[in-house]
Amino acid sequence: MIRRPDELAKMRRAGRVVAEMHEAVRAAAVPGVTTAKLDRVAAEVIERRGARSNFLHYRGFPAVICTSPNDMIVHGIPGSYTLRPGDILSVDCGAIVEGYHGDAAFTMGIGEVSPLAARLMEVTELSLSAGIEQLWPGKRLNEVGRAVQDVAERAGFSVVREYVGHAIGTAMHEEPQVPNYWPGKPGPLLKPGMVFAIEPMVNAGGPETVLLEDGWSVVTADGSLSAHFEHTIAVTDDGPEVLTLP
Ligand code: MG
Ligand code: MG
Repeated sequence: MIRRPDELAKMRRAGRVVAEMHEAVRAAAVPGVTTAKLDRVAAEVIERRGARSNFLHYRGFPAVICTSPNDMIVHGIPGSYTLRPGDILSVDCGAIVEGYHGDAAFTMGIGEVSPLAARLMEVTELSLSAGIEQLWPGKRLNEVGRAVQDVAERAGFSVVREYVGHAIGTAMHEEPQVPNYWPGKPGPLLKPGMVFAIEPMVNAGGPETVLLEDGWSVVTADGSLSAHFEHTIAVTDDGPEVLTLP
């Protein structure tokens, strides 16, 4: 799917709302605060900007952000979990502006975190940057996953296989998917106007995942820490343009 310049303008606006949600949640995420409170903080940004949430009611999801602490990889439901010093917390959220979607995630430390947790977050964000750098016209989509995997595994970490990135536009999840690993084939040729959400999920231990009984929360099978960073990025003639920036 190739997006016109006027469509990209709307996606840029949606992306800015997502970035503002991130900033608000980051500022509010301190020890003693519940993840339910962080959800309300993000919802206030959506409301203030006249945007809509693409997470709320998505396949029945009950909140506008996902909050996934420590060994939780993705899709955690905000609730009574209270942040503690030394936690890491992954926050994923999105917004819709005039029918166009943005989607982005980050992981942050709550107070001081272990050297391993800090390194995991740093490497995961670096792996996202390495993936984004592949989004040039003429390259192949699955170079993204190859670059992400290379950064993560060279640091001694592993990349989740069951959950992947995706194209994005008038829906949050569009085809094709974007694996965070080399899937054995190069994938589609990249063209200006294509837009993708690139979102490495990197585990400190093994890549295996377990879905909890709530039907949403995904944790590492071995209980190791996990981090998640995501941006929505357009392929342009001048290279990748990150749309989910302040
Ligand atoms: Mg997301
Ligand atoms: Mg996504």
